Amino acid sequence: MHMVAGVDLGGTAINYTLVNGREQFLIEGLCEYPARSKEGPEVCLRQIEDGLKIAVEKAGIPMADVVVVGLDTPGPASADGVLSAEGSTNFVHPSWAGFDIRGALSKRLGKPVTYLNDGNAGALWGHFAIFGANNRQTSISAIIGTGLGGGVIIEGNVVKGRKGFGGELGHVLIPYQSIPGTGGLKPECNCGRTGDLESMCSLTAIEQTLLPFFLARYSGHELGKMGDIHQAAKLVRGFAERGDPMCQEIFRVQARALGVFFDEMVNTFDPDALIVGGGAVETTEAFQRWFIQEIRAGMPPQREEQADIPVHVMPNGDTAGARGAAIEALKFARQNHLGHLSASEV
Ligand SMILES: [Zn+2]
Repeated sequence: MHMVAGVDLGGTAINYTLVNGREQFLIEGLCEYPARSKEGPEVCLRQIEDGLKIAVEKAGIPMADVVVVGLDTPGPASADGVLSAEGSTNFVHPSWAGFDIRGALSKRLGKPVTYLNDGNAGALWGHFAIFGANNRQTSISAIIGTGLGGGVIIEGNVVKGRKGFGGELGHVLIPYQSIPGTGGLKPECNCGRTGDLESMCSLTAIEQTLLPFFLARYSGHELGKMGDIHQAAKLVRGFAERGDPMCQEIFRVQARALGVFFDEMVNTFDPDALIVGGGAVETTEAFQRWFIQEIRAGMPPQREEQADIPVHVMPNGDTAGARGAAIEALKFARQNHLGHLSASEV
């Protein structure tokens, strides 16, 4: 049976999935292999190939049945999968600069390879989980992790942009001064902007801005006594879930920032759905519900037709990249009539 593969190349591990024409994923949970990206492209590409062989064997299908491979990696990279000449934290070996990772993998495997950055792959997975692969819907996904990634899907297609920076939602400026309880806050992002979404809504925002800001207002707080802001920042979500007032306040501010941002997106795209994912919402259902309520509370009043826009939590956070990459590969296979993968053929 023909299928496509999704390959999510992360900082230290590669995660795989397989999907068939019925849009069923053949690998449940994580299927990981070491990335060894610090050792350069030659070693890393071999790792990708070796890991894919293992994944395919596990699923009990011959490699020849995989007609397209979808790859996603952290950026920055061009829309076509050429890594930035400036390098990045995940691709530190000098040979990665300006490397065409999509083209090189395609040559190595002897199969077409599609490319998405990891934020856009996650966004496509979230979109697919709600609407399926054959759809003309529009959605905006924000994925809250160390930074803030995400993507814009318009009528079923990922907006990659001219240089591959489409859907860099973390660096969109928001009117953060309108969020109650943040007077005097100066949220600076690593990108050089002040007051973009990532500077208000990410683990980095908690560590660099929100936690120091609120610790100054909650003197004697347990997290302040730790003396290690990096470790303390990682504990904020757990504290918030258990009802700690300061940490709930930090999550409320993040949710409100997201609400202000989503409002900008609603007025730009009038989307069918807003989707939130990432570590920040990998929590209890009760906490997710509260967080979404606070997002809505952060949105200025909508006109009547837009007020009921659904806000979803993205499922399967760990495998989102690989699954999104696989969906992009499936779309490519169908558009180019590669293999038997249309819903009517399987
Ligand atoms: Zn930024």
